[in-house]
Amino acid sequence: MSYNNDSYGSGGYGGNGGYNNGGYNNGGGYGGNRGFGGGRGGRGGFGGRGGRYDERVELSTPEWDLDTLPKFEKNFYVEHPEVAARSDQDVAAFRKEHEMSCLGSDIPKPITDFDEAGFPDYVLKEVKAQGFPKPTAIQCQGWPMALSGRDMIGIAATGSGKTLSYCLPAIVHINAQPLLSPGDGPVVLVLAPTRELAVQIQQECSKFGSSSRIRNTCVYGGAPKGQQIRDLARGVEIVIATPGRLIDMLEIGKTNLKRVTYLVLDEADRMLDMGFEPQIRKIVDQIRPDRQTLMWSATWPKEVQALTRDYLQDPIQVTIGSLELAASHTITQLVEVVTEYEKRDRLVKHLETATADKDSKVLIFSSTKRNCDEITSYLRADGWPALAIHGDKQQSERDWVLKEFKSGKSPIMVATDVAARGIDVKGISHVINFDMPGNIEDYVHRIGRTGRGGATGTAVSFFTDGNSKLGGDLCRIMREAKQTIPPELQRFDRRSYGSHIRYGGGRGGRGRGGFRGGRGRGGYGGGNYRSGSNDAPLANRRF
Ligand code: AMP
Repeated sequence: MSYNNDSYGSGGYGGNGGYNNGGYNNGGGYGGNRGFGGGRGGRGGFGGRGGRYDERVELSTPEWDLDTLPKFEKNFYVEHPEVAARSDQDVAAFRKEHEMSCLGSDIPKPITDFDEAGFPDYVLKEVKAQGFPKPTAIQCQGWPMALSGRDMIGIAATGSGKTLSYCLPAIVHINAQPLLSPGDGPVVLVLAPTRELAVQIQQECSKFGSSSRIRNTCVYGGAPKGQQIRDLARGVEIVIATPGRLIDMLEIGKTNLKRVTYLVLDEADRMLDMGFEPQIRKIVDQIRPDRQTLMWSATWPKEVQALTRDYLQDPIQVTIGSLELAASHTITQLVEVVTEYEKRDRLVKHLETATADKDSKVLIFSSTKRNCDEITSYLRADGWPALAIHGDKQQSERDWVLKEFKSGKSPIMVATDVAARGIDVKGISHVINFDMPGNIEDYVHRIGRTGRGGATGTAVSFFTDGNSKLGGDLCRIMREAKQTIPPELQRFDRRSYGSHIRYGGGRGGRGRGGFRGGRGRGGYGGGNYRSGSNDAPLANRRF
């Protein structure tokens, strides 16, 4: 059977029969209660490489016997002498200065520069090559926590350097594990809410992992499975995955999670918002319980807390900034109370101002895919180099749009929330909420696409009567960030609704049907990624 991995190393990964025999995937399918160690020999759906897609095996929850699992190392942290020498008062002052609060027992002290983290030279060299002046707050506290092998929770805004906070310790972790044997799945699994975010994480992993020949792959929906399957078959130490596609791959036996000892849940709050909780639970249940689990989130809602309670053991937690939802103070927030009919004119006015600087990049949010296309077509007809990105576009087109936007070739991108989630594009000078989001968390996330890494940025939002329920929360966020609240908005400042209410937002273009019909037109493929509005002629370019 494929997972008879005698070569796993000194620990004899499969040596005692526990892993090898059928139990994991008992081939008997649904609800089988045979556990990890107990099965009959032989069947093992996971080993079925080369199996066809339709040989799908429903995942059952293994029963774990920690005594029979091979041991592994997860604590790599050696405190730097200068860190050790710092007094409790110094540490408290540093944490206060960086708005860090920590929870849990025996939390390691924060480091204050790259050399103190204890990364091996080959990792440190790559970090320094990026030219970052110093670690961000989440890295200062997150690195020692992650390297210590403890389960941890890191709460910090998007754009705060979270990805490196777990990527670099992941590399150290991998390098201390036995090499992969044929048929082994990854050692590090990163779950992320969207394919765009997954791809970005992959880029960081590739940048910093290449010097130690760590291989990775991204497994996400909306793209053909073939290449992903081939990457998995070659063997990769890191898999970055969106939950649905990973389950697919597990069920058809194209990978397995037996070797995972370092599990990252990135943007946990987003994943739960997007309804991935059942999938997350299903996946995590496939991973040995003595793994190290690292949960990252921008916010700390009770759903994330519940997940933490179920899957993290004696975690330590660091929160950067206030737990209250807040927008970066480097973003100027402008809110205009308008009618639906005024939005387009106002949009063009703001684009004229925004694009006075030729290097600016503008991200426009709309509430629906259809609106996203309509705005894009309208702008293009008016000479604005805009492209649309949303969930009805194929992955290749989304990748292409993102590339055009990142490179500045098409400096205006119109997006829906799902498509834009987690996108890290440097140099976005303006975010325009053509349609307000349905909740205040999304507002903070959206405007956080500008003003990253301490840069300044401007967020413009068109607020209509239909957004009234968001008024109170919006005023609170603006007040906290010391922004000017226009009097027209103040009349919506009634705190009668909680911050999680999702309003219908029904005005303006939540139309049905329509757009999908537009797909498939016009040469897709052959390097021409444009579809629908992205194919609309661009009039004499204004910017
Ligand atoms: P993240 O929060 O991981 O999405 O990171 C946001 C951006 O910050 C990414 O473009 C990173 O490359 C960048 N970044 C990560 N660490 C640092 C650092 N120490 N100093 C400056 N920028 C950083």
